[in-house]
Amino acid sequence: MKFYSTNDPDHRVDLREAIFRGLPADNGLYMPERIEPLPPAFFDELPSLSFAEIGYRVSRQLLGDAVPEADLRRIVAETVDFPAPVVELDERIYVLELFHGPSLAFKDFGARFMSRLMHHFNEADSGDLTILVATSGDTGGAVAAGFYDTPGIQVVILYPSGKVSDLQEKQLTTLGKNIHALEVDGSFDDCQALVKRAFLDDELRSRFRLSSANSINISRLIPQTFYYFEAYKQLLAAGGPTPPVAFCVPSGNFGNLTAGLIAQRLGLPVHHFIAATNANDVVPRYLESGDYQPAPSVPTLSNAMDVGAPSNFARMTNLFGHLLGKEKPLPEVHAELGRRVSGYAYDDAATEAAVREVKAKYGYTIDPHGAVGYLALREWQQGHPATRGVILETAHPSKFLPDMERILGEEVAVPERLSQLADAEKVADPMTTEYTDFRSWLEGNL
Ligand SMILES: *Cc1c(COP(=O)(O)O)cnc(C)c1O
Repeated sequence: MKFYSTNDPDHRVDLREAIFRGLPADNGLYMPERIEPLPPAFFDELPSLSFAEIGYRVSRQLLGDAVPEADLRRIVAETVDFPAPVVELDERIYVLELFHGPSLAFKDFGARFMSRLMHHFNEADSGDLTILVATSGDTGGAVAAGFYDTPGIQVVILYPSGKVSDLQEKQLTTLGKNIHALEVDGSFDDCQALVKRAFLDDELRSRFRLSSANSINISRLIPQTFYYFEAYKQLLAAGGPTPPVAFCVPSGNFGNLTAGLIAQRLGLPVHHFIAATNANDVVPRYLESGDYQPAPSVPTLSNAMDVGAPSNFARMTNLFGHLLGKEKPLPEVHAELGRRVSGYAYDDAATEAAVREVKAKYGYTIDPHGAVGYLALREWQQGHPATRGVILETAHPSKFLPDMERILGEEVAVPERLSQLADAEKVADPMTTEYTDFRSWLEGNL
């Protein structure tokens, strides 16, 4: 299987180059050249397949023979060695819990798959690989945990100072060894801009083998398709005829939603997608109007979704035929996307009310990101009552402890792998938003 750039369908590379480059030289994003439906036999067998077997078959379909079978089986098994349970709130509303991994957020799936895939390809190489990653909160923790102590790989994490929770900050600043944290005096978009500049800096790249770990890396998206199939399997197991299934995705960079669209392209019978955002509502406004207007991000309660220029937008439009990401998206693409995806946005006051409502009505503690999803699903289901909706619960509520306890007025239980971090010491270097400062740091510290 080859991977092409969304800016140039004739630019094709193999998997190894796609994951190590992260970003093609033309500033597009890599996509698999073929996304063919899985055979009917796969769907017949689906109810009896393990999560790891689903992951293996789906990744084989997307990667072809780029990784030998035994290696791919092991990489997938290590990636999904924790469950993704579907919890029923009522007969129309389900929650897909994606927070059972080491950093308690869905990004563990992508980070674990990517680290193992990179290690697989890096084994044959000499010299260190440097991973650059900008995070608005959860990416950093997942990448730090996923890559910690991986031989031959250094990780540099950039995060916006004061804009991630204390626990999120601890997750990325306390591991040490090959994990380095930079505390940037700016926004997430500033962090992302620094990383993008580094990738386009040929002189720097001639001295460092650089790679990315943001959701721009295609290896992050692949395992995120697995749990759409896993969730569907669990709904089938719940028995009876399956009403149309809609997935509601709390979104920031839109990697998760793009993975869902890929799962649908692989044949998963998804009735509809609901893109749920906070005040950073560029995509819902695009879906409404056809006009795509990236904007500076604004800080909200659901901070992992504070993205003003979603990096995967180019992939979403590309899936429906729009090949030149730099141009204005085409009207036909907007129509196609609009048939499959509806977008909704909510402010923090509505999000807080939703956290309380889910607790009062269902006894379920949902985090602020999932709460935005709950609001969007409810709104969409008003016009589509005979559906089952699955909200992707993207992080464990204890990751946002001060807000959760303030909103609910009660204690929220913290899993042990998070509470241990409270006493660990933060180690991070301060960083400005100037590219030259970032570059000097890389030259001086790696
Ligand atoms: C990263 C993240 C999101 C946004 O996911 P995208 O794939 O970037 O849209 C939502 N919720 C949480 C908790 C996250 O960490």
